[in-house]
Amino acid sequence: MITERTPKEKLMAVWSKRPLIISGPCSAETEEQVVETAKQLAATGKVDILRAGIWKPRTKPGGFEGIGAKGLPWLQKAEQESGLLTACEVANAKQVQDALTFDVDILWIGARTTVNPFSMQEVADALRGVDVPILIKNPVNPDIELWSGAVERIARAGIKYIGLIHRGFSSFGNTQYRNAPMWPLAIDMKLRHPDMPMITDPSHICGNREGILEMSQRAIDVDFDGLIIESHIDPDNAWSDAKQQITPQRLDEILSSIIWRKPDSSNPEFNKALENLRHQINILDDELLQVIAQRMKVADQIGQYKKDNNITILQPSRWHEIVEATVTKGEKLGLSRDFINKYLDAVHIESINHQKKILDA
Ligand code: PEP
Ligand code: MN
Repeated sequence: MITERTPKEKLMAVWSKRPLIISGPCSAETEEQVVETAKQLAATGKVDILRAGIWKPRTKPGGFEGIGAKGLPWLQKAEQESGLLTACEVANAKQVQDALTFDVDILWIGARTTVNPFSMQEVADALRGVDVPILIKNPVNPDIELWSGAVERIARAGIKYIGLIHRGFSSFGNTQYRNAPMWPLAIDMKLRHPDMPMITDPSHICGNREGILEMSQRAIDVDFDGLIIESHIDPDNAWSDAKQQITPQRLDEILSSIIWRKPDSSNPEFNKALENLRHQINILDDELLQVIAQRMKVADQIGQYKKDNNITILQPSRWHEIVEATVTKGEKLGLSRDFINKYLDAVHIESINHQKKILDA
């Protein structure tokens, strides 16, 4: 088959498109499945990049572990016939070389690889001197330093175009999601790397078809840059992740139902109103800080008093009273129990630290 690498300008035009939409099967299974899925996805006019797993890291042995390098020419054919760029997962040096030999446009690093610095370094070394965009999925566990470390290894190998994929995190006892989204962590990561696209993977977060629209909408609501959604021409009979894959037609419906929000508006009246509200928020945040600082000064006085009278810092019965009363009041004011608990925990720790300083002085 005669193919050549996608011209740099086309690759860059797609890479900088917002929202960036990546879709395709969890795994490449047969040539027909890959090519037909690509054609149907391209026909929606809403998809930019075809994804397909060639090597599949499975949690347990015995599942489908990927078709292997034999599937790479199928991706080339799918690109030729659909016009979509292609992406696959790589987890070691050999896979990087094979994917590049077959002109895969964009490579992604899976959650089970990001988690392992040895594997990350091997992939980074294999990428030295190569000009290919790399997407890095969050590690399986909620560790932002591990995710950032993976980014740093790839950046140090000289890769200029790096993007992030938010696919959720393992958490014990969690039943609602296959991988809990933990939005604050993903948002923090985006704030650390404002120049890197952040793409949400609702398929691996939800682990089912039903949650995909809502999870996608949340990603767009927090101004993430795109979505990677698994799609298969016959989802029920997919060789991996059957429960979460959707048909290209369903993907089209989902993408049409999402309310695509913009970070800014060009309407001056709206901008003025927003500016006004943000100003109010700034004033209220300042006031909150002042009040909390005042509260800590009172805590200092209590600390001094406890010290003079040889009383312990922590008095659990008093604290339980405060928590109960505050949660009740907070709920009446429309604040969730969960928020009040987190807020009180933070205030309590700060207060104890203040008092401890006084007792130790
Ligand atoms: C995948 O994208 O099919 C995959 C294996 O995902 P993750 O690395 O997020 O588990
Ligand atoms: Mn999958």
